[in-house]
Amino acid sequence: MTDAPAIDIAHLPHPAPVPGATREQAIADPGFGTVFTDHMISIDWDEGEGWHGATLGPREPITLDPAASVLHYAQEIFEGLKAYRLTDGTMALFRPDQNAARLNRSARRLAMPELPEDVFVEAVRQVVLKDSDWFPKVEGGSLYIRPFMFANEHFLGVRPAKKYKFLVILSPAGNYFKSGAPAVSVWVSEYTRAAPGGTGEAKCGGNYAASLVPTGEAFAQGHDQVVFLDAVERKWIEELGGMNLFFVFDDGTLVTPPLTGTILPGITRDSIITLAREEGLGVREERYSLDSWKEDAASGRLTETFACGTAAVVTAVGKVAGRDGNFTIGSGGPGQLTTKLRDRLVGIQRGTVEDTHGWVMRL
Ligand code: PMP
Repeated sequence: MTDAPAIDIAHLPHPAPVPGATREQAIADPGFGTVFTDHMISIDWDEGEGWHGATLGPREPITLDPAASVLHYAQEIFEGLKAYRLTDGTMALFRPDQNAARLNRSARRLAMPELPEDVFVEAVRQVVLKDSDWFPKVEGGSLYIRPFMFANEHFLGVRPAKKYKFLVILSPAGNYFKSGAPAVSVWVSEYTRAAPGGTGEAKCGGNYAASLVPTGEAFAQGHDQVVFLDAVERKWIEELGGMNLFFVFDDGTLVTPPLTGTILPGITRDSIITLAREEGLGVREERYSLDSWKEDAASGRLTETFACGTAAVVTAVGKVAGRDGNFTIGSGGPGQLTTKLRDRLVGIQRGTVEDTHGWVMRL
């Protein structure tokens, strides 16, 4: 980044960082989202001053007034991205400008203030560099980055709050799926996630609160993820609880559900569309029904299905189950195209495949 950031981030000393031995243990076996690094970025917003008071300081509890509006009307949005280590040892971010832009689209939908994109990226960059010694020591490890913003005005009227806080915290991450499965099994839920005109395309906490029961149902029945159908006809496939879906056909074309407002516009989804087209594959953003999924898997017209997102990158879907029965896709394991696209994307993220799009930001 050549331009100076629009805000100065003050660095506060940490009085008691996590002891080295504890940190070493955590990064040798990180899991997902349970261990956090020493520091965080914090930036405040209010009507008078706009964004101000940016600090990089100790990760610590935050004090909230019981009337803080986030606790009542859920004005909360977040992002999720990762810092990767390139093969030459440098840490890098993957398309962080896209996360910044998506946070601001979410902010607009939730009547929250937008954060300048360069401030978002600079905040992420600084905290990752500060806690780089928390980078996991496991194969495929990364530092998971969680930027988020919430309303902290204490006021109980139902209207957009006049005070917000933006924070960035980090968590060393290993494999997202507990099983580390080469292909996952998914459960088609009777619950829906998002209705037309709702908040489905925003990354707001409320969407995830509503997905917990359906996801719990999927887990209870031994599946790895939940599949949501559309809320109107209950027949069109939308996405998984935390990933977008792609369907691969025997003529080498791909289909992915269109961005009509009810699904999250995944940055991995967008990257896969670009990479697949570069491979000469046809990609159609169009609706695809659960009935077709089942029929096409049976006939062999559908050869692969994969899910994609920051957490699990690209993961094959091997088995699908729902109230109407089960079916298997292809051999039930990762297909050729899934593996090819995954390898290409992971290669770009790790610096072994040339980054012709300028997607990788070295730190
Ligand atoms: N859908 C949902 C509901 C998600 O939570 C995520 C994860 N952010 C995705 C899709 C994938 O998005 P991305 O590729 O940007 O991680």
